[in-house]
Amino acid sequence: MNTSVDRARLSELTRREVARFEADHPKSRELFERGKRNLLAGVPMPWMTEWAGPYPVFVDEAQGARFRDVDGREYVDLCLGDTGAMTGHAPKAAVEAIAEQASKGITLMLPTEDSIWVGAEMERRFGLPFWQFCLTATDANRFAIRLARAITGRPKILVYNYCYHGSVDETIATIEDGVPGSRPGNIGPPVNPTETTRVVEFNDVEALEEALAHGDVACVLAEPALTNIGIVLPDPGYHDALRELTRKHGTYLVIDETHCICAGPGGATKAWGLQPDLITVGKPLASGVPAACYGMSAEVADRSLAYMDTLPTTDVGGIGGTLSGNALSLAAMRATLEHVLTDDAFDGMITLGERWADGVKTSIERHGLPWQVQRLGCRAEYWFAPTPPRNGGEAAAVDDHELARFTHLYALNRGVLLTPFHNMALMSPATTEDDVDAHSRVFEEMCGELTA
Ligand code: PMP
Repeated sequence: MNTSVDRARLSELTRREVARFEADHPKSRELFERGKRNLLAGVPMPWMTEWAGPYPVFVDEAQGARFRDVDGREYVDLCLGDTGAMTGHAPKAAVEAIAEQASKGITLMLPTEDSIWVGAEMERRFGLPFWQFCLTATDANRFAIRLARAITGRPKILVYNYCYHGSVDETIATIEDGVPGSRPGNIGPPVNPTETTRVVEFNDVEALEEALAHGDVACVLAEPALTNIGIVLPDPGYHDALRELTRKHGTYLVIDETHCICAGPGGATKAWGLQPDLITVGKPLASGVPAACYGMSAEVADRSLAYMDTLPTTDVGGIGGTLSGNALSLAAMRATLEHVLTDDAFDGMITLGERWADGVKTSIERHGLPWQVQRLGCRAEYWFAPTPPRNGGEAAAVDDHELARFTHLYALNRGVLLTPFHNMALMSPATTEDDVDAHSRVFEEMCGELTA
């Protein structure tokens, strides 16, 4: 157990914060109770019960980097839909494009010109020439994996311990006590993932080489930095080794930029000069309208088309979906990339990310807490550990559920929303220095109370 704070003090403060939350959120409680009549666990998705506090806050309205709940309380939103709203809520240019396209037709199973504009813009940002569209980052990862399997004829993929790439069955695998298997807590895995997946620790070049040497791995699916078990940055030279080894063993490299797009307009791929064969990205691309895409090199595109030529039809099964590439998503994506998540916007967002991390670091040091702050572009996060973990296993081992719930609830009760499941904050083009400073003040007060 983490001993950086007094556990009895933590329990006492948590009880106080829960009581405050309940007193402040009667309408959310009422809606949660009503929801139980028709919604499993009273919420649209079961994980929504995992928010810190006895029930989730129900939202009334969101604008920019703020939202108001049904009890009339206002929050600085540093969660931003866990990146789905990295654009800020309801950005004007996207809302106008969405309204206009909605009035002209939403989905047709036919292409619109916006898809060509977005494909060219994705090439400018990320470097890969050919793109396809879908609705979620989960889908993008599924489809990229399928293509890689189809054209290599290899059965397996490789992922990192404690990665997260959406609800993609092959990726929900971890190593527990040295043994790879289904990640604890995963609901209904179709098969033991060791049949489909090899798992290694991030930053472990030797393990990677050994796993790829089996010759059965179609692709490595990698976040440039792990972002779903805290931010775990790559060691210097790790990405060079990853690229070299994947090439050596005939394995494709798929880079998932869904969260690492926080590193800049072209994600970590552009910022760090990575050379993936495929890229997947979703979440904020259409200002919150479901939209995602995956890009590929000319070589992958050629091999994919040649493979499809061998089929009786292009694809009878899994890749696509009737709503993929719909006119509304594409119009929203175009407006988002052209006017909201612009190159200039990222400069401001990254500066705010630095300011947020500085604020946290100052309080950690002032109160002598053995904690860390880690940052990637406009995303930053704190750890309840004296040194930053180097891989998913180390990161999972220092997770402190009770302390994390307390920090979230403490912030929420004082008008700041952090991302659930970790201590993450994200900056949008609408976030201001005042928003960041609001968090710094709350964090300082909390550190003071925890160490009093
Ligand atoms: N890739 C990464 C890196 C993610 O963090 C997530 C979601 N947290 C996904 C893919 C899946 O996104 P979605 O749930 O929108 O499909």
